[in-house]
Amino acid sequence: MPKITVLVPVFNEENNLQALHAELTRIAASRTVVSDYGLQADVDLSAYEWEFLFVNDGSHDGSFEMLMKMRQEDPRVNVVNFARNFGKEIAMMAGLDFASGDAVVIVDADLQDPVELIPEMVYWWRCGYDDVYGQRTKRGQESWLRKTLSLSFYRMLQSTSREDVLQNVGDFRLLSRRAVDALTRLRETKRYTKGLFCWIGFNKKAIPFERCDRRQGKSSFNFLRLFNLAIEGFTSYTTSPLRLASILGISVSIMSMLYLVFVLIKYFIHGEDVQGYPTLVCLILFLGGVQLLALGIIGEYIGRIFNETKGRPPYIVESFNGATPLRNN
Ligand code: UDP
Ligand code: MG
Repeated sequence: MPKITVLVPVFNEENNLQALHAELTRIAASRTVVSDYGLQADVDLSAYEWEFLFVNDGSHDGSFEMLMKMRQEDPRVNVVNFARNFGKEIAMMAGLDFASGDAVVIVDADLQDPVELIPEMVYWWRCGYDDVYGQRTKRGQESWLRKTLSLSFYRMLQSTSREDVLQNVGDFRLLSRRAVDALTRLRETKRYTKGLFCWIGFNKKAIPFERCDRRQGKSSFNFLRLFNLAIEGFTSYTTSPLRLASILGISVSIMSMLYLVFVLIKYFIHGEDVQGYPTLVCLILFLGGVQLLALGIIGEYIGRIFNETKGRPPYIVESFNGATPLRNN
């Protein structure tokens, strides 16, 4: 019997967990008709073995106790407990490491991703797709600012990199075993998982859906965190900002050379004058700014080299299903 793992990163979600578990239980026993361009296909999810793998990412509330209670009642529930909060990207990485299924479905704990889509995902997986992802046609409750910034981020990322960057796509997806195996081989600690999904390639299939609003609590991604994620995305996905720094440097140098020629010619025609102080100040400030920008960009990359060379494990597991693991990976 093929096994499907549902991977859920959890951070302070105690009020959502029970509802999520109920939804997952319902869908795991469900039988659905999926229409494939007019063809009707019967997807019987009760024919699969299920694992509900929760990665508790250092929650401060009662999420862990809740998860352990759920495990007592339902042996399909497995709980990876982090020693502290490592962030969603790392929680997903650990989940992929621990997942035992032939396919892994990544779902947010706050019920923003409709589990009703899972039968269709499974259907396409059985048809041979390795990465069946939900594509949002509606983004749920979000501020205008967040939406605009997020969209322009995707646009910028796409224009600077060779691989396809999927727009309006979250982490909600089904991955085949070979896609999971490919992902677990990417061990970088500063992760931008959405970029990694694209990087590994394989056959992809989009399923459009409307993203619902968060059921309980509020999003843990505030503006600063999203900004950090955006920088993370850029610097881990492409090195083109480094190229930008070089291009900027070259153009400014050429412009300065031209200006130098202009000043010299002016000197020979009009003779020396002491004017030009404002120009000087402008130039110095401008060049200073460009240099700082280039330094900052280079610094971002050096920072990541520094982080990677430390060779630390990406996460520390405190316990797996309540027991301390013998080996941390
Ligand atoms: N999450 C996590 N670690 C964190 C922050 C969030 O595991 O440090 C989980 C969270 O529990 C949820 C998912 O990541 O299951 C998405 O988080 P959230 O709803 O806050 O993000 P948004 O939907 O606003 O992108
Ligand atoms: Mg959410």
